[in-house]
Amino acid sequence: MSELNLILLGPPGAGKGTQASRLTEDFGLPYIGTGDLLRRHVAEETDLGKQAQEQMDNGGLVADDLVIAMILEKIDEEGDDGFLLDGFPRTIPQADALAGALEKRNRRLTAALLIDAPDETVIKRLSGRRQCSDGHLYHVEFDPPKHEGRCDQDGKPLSQREDDEPEKIKKRLETYHEQTEPLKDYYEERGLLRRFDGTQDKVKVHDHIRATLATLRLEERL
Ligand SMILES: [Zn+2]
Repeated sequence: MSELNLILLGPPGAGKGTQASRLTEDFGLPYIGTGDLLRRHVAEETDLGKQAQEQMDNGGLVADDLVIAMILEKIDEEGDDGFLLDGFPRTIPQADALAGALEKRNRRLTAALLIDAPDETVIKRLSGRRQCSDGHLYHVEFDPPKHEGRCDQDGKPLSQREDDEPEKIKKRLETYHEQTEPLKDYYEERGLLRRFDGTQDKVKVHDHIRATLATLRLEERL
C-alpha cells in the first residue's frame, strides 16, 4: 500500500491554494485546509466544534490537540491513500504533535511540499489582488479587468480584501518568518522537505510537483 501523506508549506501568496486544488484532482487525495475544517466544525456545532468555540469565546486560540483531532477524523474518513494538509502545522510544536498523532495510527508524513517565494513577490501579488462581491479575482498588474475597478463578469465594483492590505501582508509575513519558516529546517533534517519555486508560472510549478509526487509514490511502493 502506498500512501501520499503530504503537508503544504510556504508563505501566503506563494500559490499553495492553486496548487492544492490541482494536486487533489491529479492524485485523488482529500484536501484538508485547517481553516475551513475548523469553521465547518464550529458552524455544524460538532463536539469538537463546540469545544473550539468555547476556547475562542474565552479569548484564546484553538488548542493544537483539538485541531489535530479534527484532522485525524478527516483522515480516518477519507485519507486511506493519503491526504494533502494545508494550514497546519505552522509551528515546530505543532509539527511534533502531528508526527506523534500520525505515529499512533502507524502512519507518517511522506513529504512536506514547500512552495517558496521571496517577500517582494508575495507583497506584489497580494497587494494587487482585487475581487468583486461574488469572489471573481483580478490583479491590477497581472490580470487587470477591462474597466478599472469593475468586474468583467458582472460589473460589480472591485475591492481589496482586508487581509491583502499592505500592513496586514507585512504582519502575515512576519508571523510566517518567525513561527513557520523554521519548519523548513525541521523537515529538511527529517529528509521530508521538497522545494518548489513559487515565483515560476503556476503550470510549471504544478508539473514539477506532480513529477515529484509520482516519484515519491513509486518509491513508497518499492
Ligand atoms: Zn464579479
